[in-house]
Amino acid sequence: MKWFPETFRSRLALAIGAMAVCVGLPFYLYIAQVYGQQLVREREQALNELAESVASVVSLNLEERLREIGLVARLSPGLASAQPGDTDLTATLDKLQTAYPVYAWIGATDAQGVVRVATGGLLVGRSVAQRPWFGAGLRGNYLGDRHKAELLQSLLAPQALEPIYFIDVAVPLRSSDGQVTGVLAAHLYWRWAANMVASIVPSKSARQQIDVFLVDKAGHISYPDRVPGADKVPADLALGAPQVLSSWAEGGRYLSVALPVPEAWPASPLGWQVVVRQPLDVALSELHALQRVVLSATLLASLLFLVLAWWGAGVISRPLEALTRLARRIEQGDEGVALEAEARSAELRHLSAALKGMASTLISRRQALERSNHELEDKVAERTAELARSNAALERLARHDTLTGLPNRRACDERLVLEFERMRRTGLAYAVLVLDIDHFKQVNDGHGHAAGDQVLRHVADVLRQQLRSTDFLGRSGGEEFLALLPQTQPDEALRVAQKLRHAVDTAKAPVVAHVTVSVGVSAAAAEQPDAEMAVRVADDQLYRAKQNGRNRVESSFMR
Ligand code: GH3
Ligand code: MG
Ligand code: MG
Repeated sequence: MKWFPETFRSRLALAIGAMAVCVGLPFYLYIAQVYGQQLVREREQALNELAESVASVVSLNLEERLREIGLVARLSPGLASAQPGDTDLTATLDKLQTAYPVYAWIGATDAQGVVRVATGGLLVGRSVAQRPWFGAGLRGNYLGDRHKAELLQSLLAPQALEPIYFIDVAVPLRSSDGQVTGVLAAHLYWRWAANMVASIVPSKSARQQIDVFLVDKAGHISYPDRVPGADKVPADLALGAPQVLSSWAEGGRYLSVALPVPEAWPASPLGWQVVVRQPLDVALSELHALQRVVLSATLLASLLFLVLAWWGAGVISRPLEALTRLARRIEQGDEGVALEAEARSAELRHLSAALKGMASTLISRRQALERSNHELEDKVAERTAELARSNAALERLARHDTLTGLPNRRACDERLVLEFERMRRTGLAYAVLVLDIDHFKQVNDGHGHAAGDQVLRHVADVLRQQLRSTDFLGRSGGEEFLALLPQTQPDEALRVAQKLRHAVDTAKAPVVAHVTVSVGVSAAAAEQPDAEMAVRVADDQLYRAKQNGRNRVESSFMR
C-alpha cells in the first residue's frame, strides 16, 4: 500500500481533514491552556471569597456579641451593684440567653470576682477571680479564645463525656460615677463556630468537597473538631494567595487558602485564621470535563469535515472519472461514444466540451489519415501492377525477338540448358534442329532489307505452325532458327525436320515467292559434356546440308 493516496478524492479529503485538525488543535490548546488557567483562577477566587466571607462573618459576630454584652452592661445599671441572686437581673440575663441560645452562661461579678447574678443562678456566690476573662474584663472589653469549661462543665452537662468548649466575652461594669465595680461576662458554646460557618458556606460546598477550618493563633484547627495529631494546618500554608499544597495530613493535593479573621476587638486579639481547601482534582474537574468536551468536539468536527470533504471530492471527481472512462473507450476505438459527463460546475462543463472538441478533431483527423492511407495503398497497388506489367513486357522483350515474335538467342540458350538438365534428371533425350534460310543474302540484296524482314517473319510463322506446343522454336540469330523437340527419337526428329523443310519449301513466300531452308539435326545425349555439344553437332550437319545443295536435312545419325 502506498503511504500517500493517489486519487484526487482521497487526497482532497485528507487535506481537508488535516486542515480541520490544524484548526481544531490550536482551538483545543487555547481552551486547555488559556481558558484552563482562567478556570483555575476562578476556582481560587471562589475559595478566596468563601474564606473572606467566613472570616468577616466570624469577626462581625464576635463584635456583635461584644457589643450586645456591653449594651446589657450599660442598659442594666443594677448589674453594677446587684445583690447576689437578684431575681430581676437574673431574669434579664435568662431572656438574653433564651434569645440567643449559643450563650452557655451569662453572669455579673463584683470587683473581687465573686459572681452576683448569672443565668440559671449558676456559679452565684462563687469566685471566678482566677479566670483570665475576669482580670481582662476589669481592664476593658475582652474576647477570650476557645477553652475547656472548668467550673461549668459539671453544672451544664454533668453526664457528658466530651469536654465543653467556650469562648468568652467580658466587659467591665461601672457604677454611675464611672467606677469599675465588676465584670459582665458571657460564655458561648463552641457550636457557635459551626453556626457561623454553616450560615456562610453554601450547601453545594459539601458536594465539591470544600472544607472550611477555623485555626487558632497556634496553628491548631479549632473548628471542626479534629483527631489529635491531625489538628494542625500544614506548616507551609501561607496567609493570602491561594496555593496548591500536598502537605495536608490526609495526603493528596489541595488548593488551599488561608485568610486572617479581622480582629473584632483589636485590644484583645485572637489571631484566628479561616482556612478553606478543596482537592485539586475536584477543583479542576470542570476544566477536565471542558477539555474532554472540546477534544471530542474537535475530533468530531474533524471527522465531519473529513466526511464532507470525501463527499464533496466525490461530487467533483465523479464527472472527471466518467470523462476518463469515456475518453478511454474512445482510445480503445469506440468512436461512437458521446463525451457527455454530468458536470455541475462550469469548469467541468468547459473541460467536457474541450475534450469533446479534441476527440472529434482527433477522430476526423484519423479518419482522413485512414482515407489517404487507403488511397495511397490503392495507388501503390496500381503502380505495382503497372510495374509488374512493365516487368513482364520487359521480360518478354528481353527474351523475344521483336521481328518474328519468337524466343531470341538468349531464350534459346536458357532453354537449351533447361532441356539438358531435365534430360540428365529424367534420362529422356531430346532432338536439336538448326535451320538456316538458303541464300538469304540474295533476298536482302535483291529486294531490300525490309523485304528480307518480311521473308524472315514468313519463315518463322510457317515453322511455328508445324511444331507442337511442347516443342521449342527460337530465332538463334540472323536468318537462323533453333528447334528443340523434347522426348523425341532420332527418326521422329528427322521426320519433323523434313516436315519443316517441306512446309517452307511449299509455302508461298512474300516478295520472293519461294524460299527454302537447310536443316541440321542432332540428338542430345546425357553423356555429352554440355548443352552446346548437340548444337555444335547440328551446326555441323547444317553445314553439310549447305554443302550438299541446300533445301535438305542432314543428321549425325542418318547414314
Ligand atoms: P547460304 O545459303 O549459304 O546460307 O547463303 P546466305 O546468303 O543465306 O548466307 P549469308 O550468311 O552469307 O547471308 C546471310 C544474310 O542474312 C546476311 C544478312 O544481311 C542477312 N540478314 C541477317 N539477319 C537479317 C535480318 O534480320 N533481316 C534481313 N533483311 N536480313 C538479315
Ligand atoms: Mg546463315
Ligand atoms: Mg543462309
